[in-house]
Amino acid sequence: MKIQYKMDFTKILASELSMDPANWEDQRKLAHEMVDVMLDLHQFISEKPVWKEVPNDVKVSFEESLPQTGGNIRAIFEEFKQNILPYPKGNIHPRFWSWVQGTGSPTAMMADMLASGLNSNVTIGEHSAMYVDNQVINWMKEMMNFPATASGILLSGASMANVTGITIARNAFEDRNIREKGLAQQDKGKLVMYISAETHSCVIKAGEITGIGNDQIRIIPVDKDWRMDIAALQRQYALDIEAGFAPFCLVGNAGTVNTGAIDPLDDQLAFCRKFGLWYHVDGAFGALAKLVPEYSNQLEAIEKADSLAFDLHKWMYLPYEVACLLVKDAEIHRQAFALQPSYLKSHERGLASGPDPITNFGFELSRGFKALKVWMCLKEHGLPKYAAAIRQNIAQTFYFESLLKEHEDIEIVAPATLNIVCYRYNPKNKALSNDDLNALNKEILMDLQTQGVGAPSYTFIDNKYVIRMCNVNHRSRKHDFDALAKESVRIGAENLCKLFLT
Ligand SMILES: *Cc1c(COP(=O)(O)O)cnc(C)c1O
Repeated sequence: MKIQYKMDFTKILASELSMDPANWEDQRKLAHEMVDVMLDLHQFISEKPVWKEVPNDVKVSFEESLPQTGGNIRAIFEEFKQNILPYPKGNIHPRFWSWVQGTGSPTAMMADMLASGLNSNVTIGEHSAMYVDNQVINWMKEMMNFPATASGILLSGASMANVTGITIARNAFEDRNIREKGLAQQDKGKLVMYISAETHSCVIKAGEITGIGNDQIRIIPVDKDWRMDIAALQRQYALDIEAGFAPFCLVGNAGTVNTGAIDPLDDQLAFCRKFGLWYHVDGAFGALAKLVPEYSNQLEAIEKADSLAFDLHKWMYLPYEVACLLVKDAEIHRQAFALQPSYLKSHERGLASGPDPITNFGFELSRGFKALKVWMCLKEHGLPKYAAAIRQNIAQTFYFESLLKEHEDIEIVAPATLNIVCYRYNPKNKALSNDDLNALNKEILMDLQTQGVGAPSYTFIDNKYVIRMCNVNHRSRKHDFDALAKESVRIGAENLCKLFLT
């Protein structure tokens, strides 16, 4: 059957439509209002509660079906102001210390608008954004003390940076030529990867996605400070060699998500060098502490890693999303991903000339201009100011811990070593069971958030439900930590009465 492609174009082209605004002046006025609304949000954020639940009628409004008729953009913006703006996650607020979530900044927000306006697809070609992206990678190398010959790529988050790093490690393993032959090579041992019990779940997913498989991801126990137990690693390695497995990669933690623990990086590095493993470091937020004098020694080994993943939307205070992967050997990095189909071949001149296509260094083809916000903010503040802000966050964390220590009913479960403290309300002389304490502290955390005191998060440490304060917040001030400590005790006592003393 012959398929007919037929379209009556004359009629359609007689009235061509446009997606541009019908009235540019109105659009311009509205755009300025939008900027004001967002600058107001940032400037006066501390006057607002850190978090508010989304009301039911607002939730219902998001069940509206797919629009079939166009609406007025001003009315749509009003809807944004009414239903979206008042219920943000809270991480731009000075009292937000949940998970590990950056604060963002007004300059970076505007940079994102500029990037979106240019709408450059930063993957291939001769255009300014390619050079900005390259420059930012060079700055990242300098910042982490990687050699100028190293390579790197900006990605959406540390999850993507970790899976990209592990993919490179896998593809570079021995002479297996995994890109061509795949993982199943009957005559060879299965690939094995080492992580710690405190390693972030995205690294486990990365092991699954790259085909290593959970059965081959060795979860090495941690010591009393939540750092990888190197003796246990060595024992496991010996067992794996004995059993014919092929260990190819060790993932070190520079700042674990639960407690901020930094693995014995020097030992891990020495282990990898001794046995020929790829050393990948997940430094999602902790790698940035390298900029702080008190931490630079402890984190020196990350400079020598084969690959290093870190976020810029956490401790560089940039808005979502942006992270970085650095790779020591640019050629190995390139070999893991480079592929040039006919439609992506570089030309000598014209639009398709320019720097090495970025898609040769990662899985993604289309990429946004996330480099612009990094570029602008680093120029605005200079690196030392970031180092000082990060140092301030660490100092605030130790200050907060010192406040907690003043209260005998507070138990510090994971002391501050970086920017995280985990604690629970554990009233002296009450001898509550662990289950009761878990229930009690969950109530306290929910009250801290719903009463608008502050938004720490939670985790379990040794089966203890703990309140977890993680500080990557450039807006927090001393008095914010005073309030959290004081209110944790007050709300603790209140809930103790409610739950157990009635
Ligand atoms: C946040 C985090 C990740 C994941 O990073 P995303 O940017 O959320 O993808 C990985 N590892 C650690 C230690 C983290 O804190």
